[in-house]
Amino acid sequence: MSDVIPLTESGHATGATLSLDAMIIGTGVAGLYELHLLRQQGLSVMAFDTASDVGGTWYWNRYPGARFDSESYIYQYLFSEDLYKGWSWSEKFPGQPEIERWMHYVVDRLDLRKDMRFDTTVTTARFDEAIGRWRVETDRGDVIDTRYLITCCGMLSAPLTSVFPGQDTFEGTLFHTARWPKTPVDFSGKRVGVIGIGATGIQVIQTIADQVGHLTVFARTPQYTLPMKSPAYGAVEQDSYKARFRELAERIPHTFSGFEYDFENGAWADRTPEERHAIIDEIWRDGSLKLWLASFAEIFTDEEASEVVSEFVRAKMRERLKDPRLCEILIPSDYGFGTHRVPLERGFLDVFHRPNVTLIGLRDTPISAITPKGIELADGTEHALDVIILATGFDAGTGALTRINIRGRDDRSLKEEWAQDIRTTMGLQVHGYPNLFMTGAPLAPSAALCNMTTCLQQQAEWISDCIAHMRSRDVQVIEATKAAQDEWVEHHDALAEATLVTKTHSWYMGSNVAGKPRRLLSYIGGVGTYRQKCTAVAEHGYPGFTFR
Ligand code: NAP
Repeated sequence: MSDVIPLTESGHATGATLSLDAMIIGTGVAGLYELHLLRQQGLSVMAFDTASDVGGTWYWNRYPGARFDSESYIYQYLFSEDLYKGWSWSEKFPGQPEIERWMHYVVDRLDLRKDMRFDTTVTTARFDEAIGRWRVETDRGDVIDTRYLITCCGMLSAPLTSVFPGQDTFEGTLFHTARWPKTPVDFSGKRVGVIGIGATGIQVIQTIADQVGHLTVFARTPQYTLPMKSPAYGAVEQDSYKARFRELAERIPHTFSGFEYDFENGAWADRTPEERHAIIDEIWRDGSLKLWLASFAEIFTDEEASEVVSEFVRAKMRERLKDPRLCEILIPSDYGFGTHRVPLERGFLDVFHRPNVTLIGLRDTPISAITPKGIELADGTEHALDVIILATGFDAGTGALTRINIRGRDDRSLKEEWAQDIRTTMGLQVHGYPNLFMTGAPLAPSAALCNMTTCLQQQAEWISDCIAHMRSRDVQVIEATKAAQDEWVEHHDALAEATLVTKTHSWYMGSNVAGKPRRLLSYIGGVGTYRQKCTAVAEHGYPGFTFR
């Protein structure tokens, strides 16, 4: 074990040098578990975070209405029955405050806080080939020397905050949803504009519509929405899901999406149209993401299946929206259901029938600028506003890592490489960056096509096991070979190209960020399959990786 040179009492001595076995960036779901696992191995390890406290996504995304759309009883750590049963959820899809409290519960139960540093942003990480270690710098002036660098930065953690010309001139208040203040925002009597109707915008809009003076929603690409049902949980429901711990822990890691449910309705071709409709209708009533992730796998690949399910959802939306103008702006027609993230909603569609809500469709008339007084459209129309909420999304997958100056062998730059082509080895390593391990990174099932806790636990365990393997063999450095990486990228792309997902515009394909190379960011072979492949690599002694 390395000698640890402690930071000062305040934890942030300028120029301090800290020597670690492993450094973790991020204290969200993955970072907490990785810290726990590596500490259990006896490594000197610390986790750093830009945030002032733990939570990751659930620290930053405290906007009004933020909540789960994974069922609470599966968005869980599954390595400890005791930890699982020690927390009781109040409903099926709880809100951000309860989720944040749960993360604090985990930190306290595992006694993780003493090995964490907050309000500290990693700025640069350089691999020193001569000694096989990373030299990491922070905005506090810390210099950390570490054998292993593990990024647990989140797939959706680099918000697109500077989107429109003139943003800085706005005389009212402007928020991005992922940088929401901790103190409550008073919307009463205010003219509020929300830009974006992704999963985030939908949650904000449906939550604040009855709190604002007037709400103007700026919508570009319409969404297939599913109504969420979130029953309250009392002691009976809590006891009931806790009693299923072992069953859930065995099942969830092996399904297509890391959720409890899976594709179990047989092949599309084997069902009559009536049977298909009955199945779709029944699953739709579940009020969850099941219609997307566990109805028929063919919705991802077969144009006809995709159109049938898409039309089913459109019809449900038309029933609620009624008004042809609302239908025109809010119901998708030119891409298939589920070919990008499906949002759950609770009253979102009904909001547009309120007298204090105006819907602006942007498809033909985009936003040209933010002015001192509000939002201006390309046709010169100006909407006067007191508050603007940017629900404009993220530079997904790559953004969190390219915002750090990561330098691998021969001073190569991850930012520069990914500006050309986004490549990883199973989303866990990148060729040319020895001893850098990643969670929630591109080309793994992260975020887009999995229940995050399922995927992140599997990745955290794989990394911990790999480090244990290295230590048991007394090797210091691991690196993915170029050949193994090429093979993974080719496999990933072949699966992706066989689906309809690659044809749809969204952050899944990186098309929400100008100039970003196109590639499906999430592995689409299934969470269970991905796990099997990662496990096989470990069991066979890590073929495709070199050690020294
Ligand atoms: P998003 O899905 O990327 O949506 C961004 C929205 O902003 C889109 O409607 C987009 O329109 C719009 N937009 C961006 N730039 C624009 C511009 N220049 N002009 C007009 N509109 C613009 O981002 P998000 O809603 O934050 O969601 C991101 C992901 O976070 C989700 O897909 C989901 O995975 C995750 N999330 C999860 C939860 C949960 O689990 N409960 C909740 C919220 C979010 P276009 O589509 O036309 O580009």
